[in-house]
Amino acid sequence: MIAERHDGTGLVRHDVALDESLIDPDAAKVVRRLERAGFQAYLVGGCVRDLLLGSKPKDFDIATSARPEDVKGLFRNCRVIGRRFRLAHILFQGGKVVEVATFRRSPQTEAPEDDSEAIDEDILIRSDNVFGEAHEDALRRDFTINALFYDLDRRQVLDWCGGMPHIQGRTIHTIGDPIVRFREDPVRLLRAIKFAARLDLGIEPDVYDAMVGQRGELARAARPRLFEEILRLMRGGAAHRSMWLLWEIGAMAVLLPELAAYLDDDDATEGGGARFFRRMDAIDRKTKQRGGPLDDGVLFTALLHEPLAESMLGAGDPVAAAYEFLDPIVERIALPRRIADGLRRIVAILPRLAAGRAGRFLRTDLAMPAIEALEIDLVARGKSTEIIERLRSEAQLAAPAVSPRSSGGHRGGGAPHFRPNRTARRG
Ligand code: ATP
Ligand code: MG
Repeated sequence: MIAERHDGTGLVRHDVALDESLIDPDAAKVVRRLERAGFQAYLVGGCVRDLLLGSKPKDFDIATSARPEDVKGLFRNCRVIGRRFRLAHILFQGGKVVEVATFRRSPQTEAPEDDSEAIDEDILIRSDNVFGEAHEDALRRDFTINALFYDLDRRQVLDWCGGMPHIQGRTIHTIGDPIVRFREDPVRLLRAIKFAARLDLGIEPDVYDAMVGQRGELARAARPRLFEEILRLMRGGAAHRSMWLLWEIGAMAVLLPELAAYLDDDDATEGGGARFFRRMDAIDRKTKQRGGPLDDGVLFTALLHEPLAESMLGAGDPVAAAYEFLDPIVERIALPRRIADGLRRIVAILPRLAAGRAGRFLRTDLAMPAIEALEIDLVARGKSTEIIERLRSEAQLAAPAVSPRSSGGHRGGGAPHFRPNRTARRG
């Protein structure tokens, strides 16, 4: 009898026919071409998780036994990217990218001594790419629900870490000891919050306790990744739940102590906490209406509006006071200067904007984000938003033809003001 793929790796196969109409046809094509060429190829990660949970995947990632150069040889429209982890990006019409990653194992896992083949392979490693087998690639991932592979032709979910029962129980479990996994990469803590909030999942109690216990480790994480993950918490239509969890776990006190203190002191801020969560609700509603995330500057304004405004209130030099508030945040989470500056200007202009006296400001790049921020503020305070439409048409009329910095920018309301590239993954 021919040995089955993955024999002896502790694999559990589940027969599951995912709805093919929800699977991206280009991603399916890529998988099938790799398989025809004799490689293993699976849909992996977020797309499998989302399909199993009944939500719509954002993108479709593929893991394969093929090396990046093999992938490049099979697809004309392929670019190999990344230095630490080389990945193949296959480009399709309309800017769609299907990411194909070669199986890799966690760099800490030593190759078994008696396995000369694995050692040979190790010698061939280029840069930090530690290639591995499918099961090793599953085990290096963060959460069990993120480690499921889908075999398109056999219509099977491949499960090496018990993720399938956790999908059924809608609960987040780390692969292995949560304390170790959060210490290895504290950003996983924010990822757990994101998945719990966005997909409405429970967090397993030991995982939850480890999040509380290890929250201080976030101070050691790469700051641009922190910025990126905070944005993701607000972009996915579940900003309210995300921020609530972040606060409850005590991670907000590590990342944004200014905001955590503000929320902790609801009495002193006269319901500031309730207003803050109404802002987050407004963001979630708008995100759903629009079918996509709001401008990054608008999101950060909603996040920091009140504590920032409070720090400027009654200051002799409000601009200096604003930077005294913002500079430590720029430092701590790598908040881009451009967003910090925009945030300060928007918060300063809002009272005049609300009074219909913003004048020339309506001609600037910040007009549309500021109007959106005002709308969120009015909603949070339970006030009428009647003025918003009028301000929007005024701003549209006042808009300069094309400003060099905002070409393709946010005037239409949908396109983001700042959109970082996908950062290289760890793990
Ligand atoms: P989303 O829907 O937000 O894209 P995702 O699960 O696809 O969610 P990605 O950031 O796109 O998240 O990562 C793809 C996969 O890579 C994850 O599903 C997970 O298996 C793995 N991964 C990502 N980040 C980490 C990490 N920090 N540690 C371990 N594995 C990770
Ligand atoms: Mg993804």
